[in-house]
Amino acid sequence: MKGSRSIVVAVLVWAVACGSGAFASRGEFDGEAALGYVEAQLRFGPRVPNTEGHRRTGDWILEQLRARADTVVVQEFQHVTVEGDTLRLRNFIGSFRPELKDRILYVAHWDTRPIADNDPPNRRNQPIPGANDGASGVALLLGVADALRRTPPAVGVDLLFVDGEDYGDFSLDRDVLIGSRYYASQVNREHLPLFAVVWDMVGDRDLAILQEGHSVRRAPEVVERVWNKARELGYERFFRPTVGGAITDDHLPLLDAGIRAIDVIDIDYEYWHTTEDTIDKVSARSLKIVGDVAVALLR
Ligand SMILES: [Zn+2]
Repeated sequence: MKGSRSIVVAVLVWAVACGSGAFASRGEFDGEAALGYVEAQLRFGPRVPNTEGHRRTGDWILEQLRARADTVVVQEFQHVTVEGDTLRLRNFIGSFRPELKDRILYVAHWDTRPIADNDPPNRRNQPIPGANDGASGVALLLGVADALRRTPPAVGVDLLFVDGEDYGDFSLDRDVLIGSRYYASQVNREHLPLFAVVWDMVGDRDLAILQEGHSVRRAPEVVERVWNKARELGYERFFRPTVGGAITDDHLPLLDAGIRAIDVIDIDYEYWHTTEDTIDKVSARSLKIVGDVAVALLR
């Protein structure tokens, strides 16, 4: 009698552990900390180039990187838009093990979109908060930096925060992907990374990442590497082995520069380019799922 009762208790404890804490123990990435980094960015307001919120957020990212990475490089540049405005932009690069030749590049954009084009007309001219579209990618990279600070990677890792991704008009290819284009123009083609991953819109509570079209066509082995890692971690429910649409994102300038780059993006997001892209739409759990994959790829 006593024996069987303790088995029942043991099974109950196991069930509770698997129900609530299943994700907490799967990898090194701290999802709650990453959600805190989303919150910290939203406190600066929209991160639209040439605004105070943008400048302060950039300074904050720089400070976070200096506290974690081995070396930090700032790329400062200007971009004149089709309207004739001069944008003052910055890319940030935090490097781990800068002495190593074999390197992996992770990318996220830190600016946010100045207009909510997917909102009804009365709100369309407002900037988006960018909790998922902007802040989630930055939070992911900072969470990766935390993990690499605790346990340095065996390969070199560069975390690139690009500016001016979401500024202009994608349909006309005007004033978009500005920071990644600048980075690509400066890259040393003799020393390219082994591969690169752009992490964009990775915080959606309802996470389902399909394989992005350009990535599958132009760097299929990197897609395979990332999706295999997700499967190994038991995350195949969230990293679906299905090819989705082709998306214009920061991986394209990198691919054009000869880098084996892919885009990990959950574009199926109701609040995309709206003023409703707020923190309640993202979750620590989703950030952890993607973050665990991102860190495991570096181990
Ligand atoms: Zn966007």
